[in-house]
Amino acid sequence: MPSSCVRCPPCVSDALPVCQMPSPCVRCPPRVSSQMLDVYDLLPFDNPDGGAWKQGFPIHYRGDEWNNQSLQVFLVPHSHNDPGWRKTFDLYYHDQTRHILDNMVQALTEDPRRTMIWAEVSYFSKWWNDIDAQKRATVKKLLMEQRLELVTGGWVMADEANSHYYALLDQLIEGHQWVQTNLGVKPANGWAIDPFGHSPSMSYLLKGAGLKNQVIQRVHYSVKKHFAQQHLLEFNWRQPWDHAPITDDITCHMMPFYSYDVPHTCGPNPAVCCQFDFHRLPGGRVFCPWRIAPQPISPENVKERALLLLDQYRQKSRLFRTPVLLVPLGDDFRFVDKSEWQNQFSNYQRLFDYMNQSPELHVKAQFGTLADYFKALHRHLDSSQHLPAVGGDFFTYADRDDHYWSGYYTSRPFYKRLDRTLEATLRGAEILFSLALTESRHLQSTMFPGKELFSHLTSGRRNLALFQHHDAVTGTARDAVVQDYGNRYFTSATATTTFTTTATTSTITDEVIAAHDALPQKTTIKVSDTPRTIVVYNPLEQRRMTVVTITVDTPDVTVVEAQTNRPITAQISAVWEEPTQASSSTFQVNNTPGLVLSWVGPGLVLFSHGLVMV
Ligand SMILES: [Zn+2]
Repeated sequence: MPSSCVRCPPCVSDALPVCQMPSPCVRCPPRVSSQMLDVYDLLPFDNPDGGAWKQGFPIHYRGDEWNNQSLQVFLVPHSHNDPGWRKTFDLYYHDQTRHILDNMVQALTEDPRRTMIWAEVSYFSKWWNDIDAQKRATVKKLLMEQRLELVTGGWVMADEANSHYYALLDQLIEGHQWVQTNLGVKPANGWAIDPFGHSPSMSYLLKGAGLKNQVIQRVHYSVKKHFAQQHLLEFNWRQPWDHAPITDDITCHMMPFYSYDVPHTCGPNPAVCCQFDFHRLPGGRVFCPWRIAPQPISPENVKERALLLLDQYRQKSRLFRTPVLLVPLGDDFRFVDKSEWQNQFSNYQRLFDYMNQSPELHVKAQFGTLADYFKALHRHLDSSQHLPAVGGDFFTYADRDDHYWSGYYTSRPFYKRLDRTLEATLRGAEILFSLALTESRHLQSTMFPGKELFSHLTSGRRNLALFQHHDAVTGTARDAVVQDYGNRYFTSATATTTFTTTATTSTITDEVIAAHDALPQKTTIKVSDTPRTIVVYNPLEQRRMTVVTITVDTPDVTVVEAQTNRPITAQISAVWEEPTQASSSTFQVNNTPGLVLSWVGPGLVLFSHGLVMV
């Protein structure tokens, strides 16, 4: 950005911030309809009672708005499966997820009009390993018919606040590679309904991974209201650096209401929408807290029920720029039992049949996927209008009143540190693996256990990926689940350490941990008359100056450079066992002023300095 255009000039409208670029600023970034930092200046954060839509406002329509262009409704069945939250990943899979996916295959096979979307590849791949060839063939057929869509394609639905972009990419690559290798499809639409706030960095990575559109949900209720008033709920999410020609925009749909469950997705009134969650039919385990139960759809009530539902669809549609409407149908771990599939699909089909056979209603309603929805949306946009551009992020999230979700930025810091440690050791191990494998091929060696080591790396990547889940690195899972994540980390960290010693044929590593909840301990190097060579490995892609600290069993040591035998200045320090007691068996050796560790050439690491201790 030119220095004269540090920030967008003031907005011209109270309602909709539009940047006016004075002529000297022609090289400023392209105009965006909304910059989030400007939007926050406009919001009163007064939280008035909006009526049926508590955090919003009454929505009105005349009734003839769809006479020329019918309302097109896509009801998108989904089931939100956390890879660990109240239960561990494995327990959720055993108790719920495998049944959901098994029953999905049967329910979708029974009627070609039925659809489903699935987001978490960690679960899908585990299930894939358990099912037979016939079921796999049916799944591939459903994918080919575009009735089953894998959305986002990430290993998990990742947190967007705590995760480092390296790990976000790791989980995206792991998921996409699995999907492409095993199913031959490429995800095109993002689905992030539960991460606690949304980041433009995530949308940038999704765009880079080939996605065209995305759906987000957990956004501050005041921002949602403002976006709904301004018809901004669908926008092109723009990166701050993106200059003409725009290359990184991704179409984003922001869900307007409080939650992704059925009461908050059919329209603005949860008391009405809940009546169209047929998992809550009387006699079941789940009920409507608004105390009006759903009714099974019959010839006697179909007209009244269809008109009631259509009224919600129409109101929701007034918040968007086109007559194409996305209505998710699902919740956490939904569609476990066969009866739920049957209740949802058969009752909605009766409602849709009635709507579609009543031309005076000007509505076409069907089950669909995100791909179906966005295809229809872009068809409308191509012919008539463009979406506005929005820049910035959607943090900090508040779901109601002053309930700001910011504690998770810092909670369980011990595990947040483990996340970064595994990330770093995994990266180091992957580079060493590539070097060692190349060397073994060059030497035509059959001794290098490449296949075994690669499986350790894959397992490490998947455990790191799992930890990016929005209840994992955030710290919002229960204690037992956090312990499970910790044990997975410990297994991978141990395997990575073993791996590193194998790949480098070294005998020790500098730091070890004894358990997932233990602090790392320095390895004490035994020094004798025989010189010991220490390899210092820099996995970064740039030179760095650093002090190297190792622990030895005697203060009588000398450090020399391996290649030249030139002495290196080093400091011997005490290791404190207690605040007032120094260890008599371990000592720190710190080289001063520091070694320069190098990276040379693309794809090559130089083990820059060996230290010989005598
Ligand atoms: Zn979740």
